[in-house]
Amino acid sequence: QAKALGGGRFELFDVTLRERMQRRLRLEQDLREAVHNGQLWPAYQPVVDLRTGEMVAVEALLRWTHPKHGEISPVEFIPLAEESELINVIGKFVLRCAARELARLRAERGLDLNLKVNLSVRQLDDPGLVPAVRDVLATTGLPAGSLCLEITESALMRDEAAAAAVLASLRGLGVLLAIDDFGTGYSSLAQLRRLTLDTLKIDRSFITGIAESRDAAAIVTSIIAMAHAVDLTVVAEGVETAEELALLRELDCDQAQGYHLGRPAAAADLFQ
Ligand code: C2E
Ligand code: MG
Ligand code: MG
Ligand code: MG
Repeated sequence: QAKALGGGRFELFDVTLRERMQRRLRLEQDLREAVHNGQLWPAYQPVVDLRTGEMVAVEALLRWTHPKHGEISPVEFIPLAEESELINVIGKFVLRCAARELARLRAERGLDLNLKVNLSVRQLDDPGLVPAVRDVLATTGLPAGSLCLEITESALMRDEAAAAAVLASLRGLGVLLAIDDFGTGYSSLAQLRRLTLDTLKIDRSFITGIAESRDAAAIVTSIIAMAHAVDLTVVAEGVETAEELALLRELDCDQAQGYHLGRPAAAADLFQ
């Protein structure tokens, strides 16, 4: 009896695992094609200057509209892409696509907006990255100083030495560099200085609740002070309420991003 049950369970587990792996494989195959058939597109989320209240930048956030499964989150498909060289293809696609769109908006509407694009740390291993960024700037006419590349703190700190050289080459092109999701990794002040970044984005998990908790606000206060001490512009991620926004302004945070200020949207909807 028990044996039969155990056997049955094993089989059930086996089937689910196989199905899961098959979905992954299918999704990866679909993702390879998605780049070429218009299913991948950048949404843009406003970044607001806390002194003027004006939108000073937009962050490109990749979206995948799958014909069968609908919207698939980058939280699911970026890690899938990172398992192979596909991330390099997708990374260059979003950069080119967003730079072209931003350059056009800047020219047609006289908007002085910076563009923020996320880089996977795996892209730093791609010898084609720096030439691709240079080429995108040249062909779209987007000024290098208007492009900011974001890399997550945890990924960056896993291999700081290797990252540093590529980041230096990117800096050489004149683009800005940001450390994303700050607070989720374990970087030191020394590392932050060595990497010569321009911007530090405080992870959303530190912003949530700052208006209610003194401790949470104290942590954000010290992150801002530390970042300013090494000349970094500070962006707060995930601002969802007017109270959080008011407090961040009081704490001398430079910029903010979040649903309270604007959700990621297609360029046509954001700039009607
Ligand atoms: P991220 O770069 O830290 O982007 C911020 C994420 O927080 C976005 O999720 C954004 O939609 C979400 N967000 C913004 N404001 C709020 C808020 O007020 N509340 C809440 N709950 N969420 C907010 P999204 O678009 O799902 O992207 C998730 C992550 O996927 C990004 O985190 C980034 O690490 C990665 N990603 C997105 N697009 C790309 C890309 O083109 N290339 C690479 N390498 N990674 C990307
Ligand atoms: Mg980001
Ligand atoms: Mg982030
Ligand atoms: Mg994030």
